[in-house]
Amino acid sequence: PAATLNGAARCSVLERTALVPSVAGAELSVPLVTGTSIGYANLDHAASAPCLQRVRTAVDEFLPWYASVHRGAGFASQVSTKIYERTRGVLRRFVGARSSDAVVFTRNTTDSFNLLAKCLPRETSVVLFDTEHHAALLPWRGPRVHRIEPPRTRLAAVSAVDSALAACAQGPRLVVLTGASNVTGELLPVAEIAAVARKHGARIALDAAQLAPHRPISLRELDVDYVALSGHKLYAPFGAGALIGRADWLRAGQPYLAGGGATKVVQRQGNEFGVVWNSGPERHEAGSPNTVGVYALGVACETLAENWDAVREHEDALLRRLQRGLASVPGFAELCLFDADVDRVGTLSFVIDGFEPGWLAAVLSAEYGIGVRDGAFCAHIATRRLIREAGGEGQQAVRVSLGLGSTEEHVDRLLLALRQIVARGA
Ligand code: PLP
Repeated sequence: PAATLNGAARCSVLERTALVPSVAGAELSVPLVTGTSIGYANLDHAASAPCLQRVRTAVDEFLPWYASVHRGAGFASQVSTKIYERTRGVLRRFVGARSSDAVVFTRNTTDSFNLLAKCLPRETSVVLFDTEHHAALLPWRGPRVHRIEPPRTRLAAVSAVDSALAACAQGPRLVVLTGASNVTGELLPVAEIAAVARKHGARIALDAAQLAPHRPISLRELDVDYVALSGHKLYAPFGAGALIGRADWLRAGQPYLAGGGATKVVQRQGNEFGVVWNSGPERHEAGSPNTVGVYALGVACETLAENWDAVREHEDALLRRLQRGLASVPGFAELCLFDADVDRVGTLSFVIDGFEPGWLAAVLSAEYGIGVRDGAFCAHIATRRLIREAGGEGQQAVRVSLGLGSTEEHVDRLLLALRQIVARGA
């Protein structure tokens, strides 16, 4: 790939543990991501982003050393425990969390929101847009969930949350909001909605699955209470994510999973078991954790944090190229949440008049080696409504999503492919 990330090439696991003396790493240019030289144009970063080369190297180095954390005095167990606990700090810095915030490792964003839902105080009212990804839309149940249809301007969206919070019953309140739409790539007015939440004494949870790979986040600056993210969208392999935020609800909530690691003491009490649960993040991390995945997630976050300018420059240039080209594809209609242009990441969805999205995606793959997503993107309500508002028909669209594995050639190949497909007809 054309672009490179600057970062220390040495990601030695052992250096990070302080169990062996630190060796300064040389500053080198490293390839962006693995697997980009085989001609496959991966334009589906929003689903899962390819592994950063630096993450791959780091994982390779860690593999001989991993062991179960918090469970042994052996060297490998010490290394793994150090790495695992150190990564909580990496994540805390990556999202600009407060020092009092808890960092709980989960499997992904879906897991994080299900965990948070389980920890809500009784009778919490939840306010959200009905266009959220299902991971943020569905974990909240009951009559106190208020699902708002987002208006078509950012200002009106903020007012809509304000009115919904004003109408909530007494008691705790939580706003759930995505930072960037996984359907349209548009950024939501997070800071403004957080300010409205604060005015009402409500908390706010940010779905950063799509925002975190593209923009720095600061919970402190945004005044956001919780953030959920997924490693596999952040250029790390699958299986590790995090929920970061206010510790009190997490400390008071029932453990997400029951099992080893979440407990301080277990003893028999007659026919029952008396359990004293941990009150820290381990309370929600029962079972042997995904030590390698957590390490990979941490290295990915560190790499992005050191390279935001390069990331932004790379993606913005490709997005402009893509938008310019798509505008001249006959019958093209883009799905948008808002009427005006807003800041956005490199994800967009569209329909092309007369072409079935599933068929288009299949032809792009089979004939051009291009991977895009088709369907309703786990955001069925958003996708259906936005297709209608874009003047399209049907319930499915095509989504293109750019990232560090994308190149100008990938974008140009897609544009050429779409023009050729449209010219020859369905
Ligand atoms: N939220 C958004 C905005 C997403 O795009 C996704 C995944 O596509 C999720 C949540 C769920 O992420 P995961 O499948 O990693 O749990």
